Amino acid sequence: MEKFMLLNDQVAVITGGGSGIGAATAELMAAAGAAVAILDRDEAAAAEEARKLSANGACALAIPVDVSQRVDIETALEKVVSTYGRLDIMVNNAGVTRPSRTLEVSEALWDHVISVNLGGVFWGSQAAFRYMKEAGYGRILTTSSTSSLGSFANASYASSKAGVVAMTRSLAMEFGKYGVTVNAVGPGMIVTPMTDDLPPEIKQRWIHKTVVGRLGEPMDVARVFLFLALPDSGYITGQMIFVDGGYTLPTMK
Ligand code: NAP
Repeated sequence: MEKFMLLNDQVAVITGGGSGIGAATAELMAAAGAAVAILDRDEAAAAEEARKLSANGACALAIPVDVSQRVDIETALEKVVSTYGRLDIMVNNAGVTRPSRTLEVSEALWDHVISVNLGGVFWGSQAAFRYMKEAGYGRILTTSSTSSLGSFANASYASSKAGVVAMTRSLAMEFGKYGVTVNAVGPGMIVTPMTDDLPPEIKQRWIHKTVVGRLGEPMDVARVFLFLALPDSGYITGQMIFVDGGYTLPTMK
């Protein structure tokens, strides 16, 4: 990919960067000139992604992390800052989904989804803000979902993603005066390992409900993350941008 250096000299951390949307975001931010750190619980995937980016001439680091564990994130960010000397962009993207009818939801399932999707975003934002507050600059990004509006037989996921929107707005209110913006993206159905196993008829129904007539690609989301991460995007904060091909629009179909 051709380099365009919009993020020259900047350092970006991407959680869940070993796969799907996170990997595309790491790739795009590296192409824009950032040094990137890929944090993922899938150690092999993170290492492979970092290897690919380094082979393309980027500065890339892989760190195994469970984002639901506050100490994991804090230790990882210490490593990033001691390696690269700064932290400009924190993309809190790692997430899981465990679709289940309500009566089948166990305490373990509920705790897992909420601690990764909601806890992970909070601990990542908290840890990043410590450095960003000191520097007087930062871009914190979060991954919500169209499911924040409700999701059939997936209340744990929908609740976590709606929580991400409220968290994004709350953190934006607190962090703005320190030069730190906080924004969310809300992907629709994106072609990644997370959606691989969905039955073709569900995907077809989804496509029919979009207005652009296709599923999303990880790069569709990565481009919005890049836009929100730019120094020039500093007057946008507390927002959520749906990247869903118009899925959430009222449609006449
Ligand atoms: P993906 O391909 O499954 O990638 C997610 C990555 O996050 C995986 O490498 C996963 O590792 C990692 N991860 C999961 N739990 C983690 C944890 N506790 N700590 C660290 N890393 C962890 O999924 P994706 O589709 O790119 O999803 C990225 C984000 O977009 C998620 O927040 C998801 O909810 C959101 N999203 C996705 C879609 C979609 O249609 N794909 C739509 C809306 C929102 P493992 O492989 O080991 O789990």
